Amino acid sequence: MKSVYFFNEGDGNNRKLLGGKGAGLCEMTRLKLPVPPGFVITTEVCKNYYKNNKKLPKNLLPEVKRNITKIEKKTGKKWNSKENPLLVSVRSGAAISMPGMMDTILNLGLNDETVLGLAKKSNNPRFAWDSYRRFIQLFGKVVFGVDDKKFDEVLERAKKNQAVQADSALNEKSLKQVVDEYKKICEKHSGILFPSDAFEQLELAIKAVFSSWMGERAIIYRNKNNITKNIAEGTAVNVVTMVFGNMGNDCATGVVFTRNPADGTKQIFGEYLINAQGEDVVAGVRTGKPIELLKTELPDTYSQLANTCKNLEKHYKEPQDIEFTVEQGKFYLLQTRSAKMNAAGMIKTSVEMTKEKLITQQRALLRLNPDQLEQLLHKTIDPNAKGFVQFAKGIAASPGAASGVAVFDVQRAVEKGEKGISVILVREETKPEDVPAFFSSAGILTSRGGKTSHAAVVARGMGKACIVGCSELKIDYEARNCQVSDRTIAEGDVITIDGSTGIVFIGAIPTVEPKFTDDFKTVLSWSQKAKKIGIRANADTPEGAKLARQYGAQGIGLCRTERMFNAKDRIGLFIDMIMAPSKEKRIQVLEKLGALQKSDFLQILKAMEGYYVTIRLLDPPLHEFLPNPEELADKLRKLEQQNDNETAKTRSVLERARNLAEINPMMGHRGVRLGITYPEIYEMQIKAVFEAAAELLKQKIDARPQIMIPQVSSIAELNHIKRIYDLIKTEMEKKYNMKIKINFGTMIEVVRAALTADELAQTAEFFSFGTNDLTQGTFSFSREDAEGTFLPEYLDKELLEISPFQSLDVNGVGSLMQIAIEKGRKVKSNLELGICGEHGGDPRSIKFCHNNGLNYVSASPHRIPIAIVAAAQAKLEKPAKIKRKKAKKPKKKAKTKAKRH
Ligand code: PEP
Ligand code: MG
Repeated sequence: MKSVYFFNEGDGNNRKLLGGKGAGLCEMTRLKLPVPPGFVITTEVCKNYYKNNKKLPKNLLPEVKRNITKIEKKTGKKWNSKENPLLVSVRSGAAISMPGMMDTILNLGLNDETVLGLAKKSNNPRFAWDSYRRFIQLFGKVVFGVDDKKFDEVLERAKKNQAVQADSALNEKSLKQVVDEYKKICEKHSGILFPSDAFEQLELAIKAVFSSWMGERAIIYRNKNNITKNIAEGTAVNVVTMVFGNMGNDCATGVVFTRNPADGTKQIFGEYLINAQGEDVVAGVRTGKPIELLKTELPDTYSQLANTCKNLEKHYKEPQDIEFTVEQGKFYLLQTRSAKMNAAGMIKTSVEMTKEKLITQQRALLRLNPDQLEQLLHKTIDPNAKGFVQFAKGIAASPGAASGVAVFDVQRAVEKGEKGISVILVREETKPEDVPAFFSSAGILTSRGGKTSHAAVVARGMGKACIVGCSELKIDYEARNCQVSDRTIAEGDVITIDGSTGIVFIGAIPTVEPKFTDDFKTVLSWSQKAKKIGIRANADTPEGAKLARQYGAQGIGLCRTERMFNAKDRIGLFIDMIMAPSKEKRIQVLEKLGALQKSDFLQILKAMEGYYVTIRLLDPPLHEFLPNPEELADKLRKLEQQNDNETAKTRSVLERARNLAEINPMMGHRGVRLGITYPEIYEMQIKAVFEAAAELLKQKIDARPQIMIPQVSSIAELNHIKRIYDLIKTEMEKKYNMKIKINFGTMIEVVRAALTADELAQTAEFFSFGTNDLTQGTFSFSREDAEGTFLPEYLDKELLEISPFQSLDVNGVGSLMQIAIEKGRKVKSNLELGICGEHGGDPRSIKFCHNNGLNYVSASPHRIPIAIVAAAQAKLEKPAKIKRKKAKKPKKKAKTKAKRH
C-alpha cells in the first residue's frame, strides 16, 4: 500500500488514511488553491510504526526522499542548500481534529550551513537566526523532550544581556549565541550531537510526531471525547514547504473562521499578526488583531482571503477554520478544516445554511453532535443580579457563566476539581499540556491570547465558560494571586466569569437557566418530524415532568417512585414503615404514604396529560432508606454516654439496619422481591396510581399511567403481582364506578427476564429495558463500584472502548435485548418496547434502539433535546445494519516453550 501521497495525489475525502489536515491540503491542492507543496505520510504508516515496536517501515525513507525531490522541483529550493534551502514543517493530523494535542515541528532543514542560505535568500540574517533558534527549541522539545523552561531561561538571559524587552528586539549576534546554547541544551539532554543533516532531522521528526499520538495529552483528549479507534487510529504526518509570515511587514499569519464559531453569525472571524509565525497566533503568545483590520493593512490579501472563505464553504458545505500565511505579499493556505463551533454556533449555522440552500435539512440535522447540545443548557448571569463588583474585563471567548475558586496552577486545579470544588483556572496563557485542568475546571480565564488562542479554542470545544486576553490582570504565580490596579484576588477566593461578555466578577453571582433560541426550536421541530422512535422522560417530580414536556418529551418512561420517599417530609414516615413491628402497623403508615404518593401522581399525570406515564413500583432494598449502620453505631455510643432518651429508638433502627444489611444488595432483597415479601407496599402504590387516575379521569383529564414492576426474573413473579393488581383494579373500578385502563408491564433488567421474554409477554402489556441493571448483570460489573475502581483502567488499556454504563454494549447487552424483542413480539406483535436505563439519553444507544424497533427511549429531562436530535439522526442515517464489532484477536505473544515439571 502506498505510504506517501504528494498533495496532488491524495484523495481529499479519505480523512481516515490521510488525516483531516492531510486530506484538506490534498483537496485544496486539487482545487488549485495556493497550498505550499508537500506530502502526507499516511495513518497506516503510523499504525505500522506501533505494530513494529516504534520502528519506521523500511520503504518509508526512500519514498520520503523521492517526495522531497518533488518538492524541490516544484519550489526550486534545495534540501541542505547553502543558497536557497528548502525548509519544511512536519505536522501531525489525525482523522479527527485534536487541536494542539499532538506535535508539530517548524523550520526543519535548518543547520549551521542552511541558516546562511536562508539569511542570504531572505536578505535578513536576523530572521534566519531567529528561525533557527525557534527550530532548535521545537525540535528539542518534541524530539528530545527538553523542558521549555530551559530554553526560556536562555532567551531571558540573552534579552537581559542585550538590555532589550522583547524577543523580537534580539539582534543577530544574540540569536547566534542563543542557537549555540540551545544546541548544547539538546545535546546535554539527549546525549547526542544535535542532528545537522536534514534527512536525519526529518526521520527523527516523523518518529516524534507518530509518538505524540500516544502522548499523554492526546490519550486524555481521545478518552474524554470518545474518539475510539474506529473514528481515528494513528496520526498522519504532513511535510509541508515552509512559508514565512515573519520575514517583514509584508508578511502575516492568521487563523480565521468562515463564520463566527461562538454564535454562528455569518462573518469572517479571526485574528492575524503582521510579521509573525502561525504558532504565535495559535499559542496566544501575542494577541492578534481582529481580521477586519487586515482590510486596511493588506487589502489584496483580505480580498483573497474573503474569496477563499466563500469558495471553501461552498465546496465543503461546512463552515471552515482556515490557517493562512502571507509571505512577502504572497497568500498561502496552510490548513482548512470544518470549524469547531459551540452548540449555539452549530445550531445557527445549521438553520442558516439550510435557508441559504447551501445544505439540505437532512444534512443540517446530521452535522450536529447531539451531545454537544448540552451546552445550550448552560447557565447565564442573572440580569437582575445587582451590586456585584466587576474585577476585570477580557475577551469573551466561550459563553456561559461559571463561579468558582480562583486557582493559578494546573495541578492544583486538577486536584481541587477532582474533589468536587468548582474551580476557575487563571493563567497567563494555556498550553496543550494544561488540558487536564480544563476538564476539572468550571471556567478558564487567561491574561493573554485572543479568540483563536489555545485556551479559547479548547474551552469552546468543551463548552466551558472562558475569558482570554484579560491583559489588565497581573498574575503572580509564586504569590498565588492576581491583581488589577489595587485589587487582589488570592487563590481560593471565589470569582465568577461571564464567558459571553468577558467580565470577571468578585464573588459568586446568581445565574439563570438558559432559554431556547428560535434556531434551536427550529432544529428540534425538524428533528421531531424526522424521527421515528418516541422520546419519553425519566422524571419523578412534577417539575421534572413539566421541564421534560417543555423540552419535547412525549410521556414518562420511568417514574422511580422511591425518589418520592426520599423527600425530606417523607423519609421519616418511610423509616417508620420499615420499623413497623407488625403488618398492621406497617399498613397504618403505608396509608399515610399512599396519600402522599397519590398527590404526586396526580400532579405528574396532569403535567403529562395525553401521554403515558410509566410508574415503577418500589425498587431499592429497604436498608438504603436507613442511616448507615456505622454512623448509627457511633450515634448510639454518644447517646448512651449522655443517657439520652433517643437511645432506645436509635438502637432499634441500628438493629433493623443490621438486620436488613446484605452482602450484595444490588442483587438482593429489592424490586419485585420486596413486592412479594411485603405485598402491602405494592398494594399501597398500585392503589395510589388507580386513585389518582380515577380522580383525573373524572375531571376529564386524559391521564395515562402504566404500572411497571422492577427486577422481574420469572413469569411466576410477574403473575404474582398481577393478581394483586387485578384485585385492586376490580376494587377501584367498583369504588369509582368506571373502567380504568392502566397497562401492566415489566422491566427487562435481569438477564433471565430477557431470556424468557416470551413467557413474560403473556402477562406484560409492555417491556421497558432497564439497561443499567441489565449491563450490571451481563458484565457482572457492579454499577455502583466499577466506574470508580477498575473501569478507568479498562478504558486506558483499551479493554473497553467506552463505559458500558454510558453507552450500550451492543454485542452483549444488545444481544440480550434483541432476544427479548424477538421473543416478546412473537407473543404480542404490538408489544410496547422502551428503554429507561441511562442509555436512553445516549446518542449511540438511541441509534441501536431505533434500529431494533423500540417504540421509545426514555432519558432524563435535560437530555431530552439531545435524545430528540439523536433519534432524528438515527432515522436519517442510511438504515444501518447493526454492526457487530468483531471480537479482538488476542495479540500474538512470543512463543514460549512448554515447561515440564
Ligand atoms: C435500570 O436498571 O436500567 C433502571 C432504569 O433502573 P434503576 O437505574 O433505577 O435501577
Ligand atoms: Mg434497575
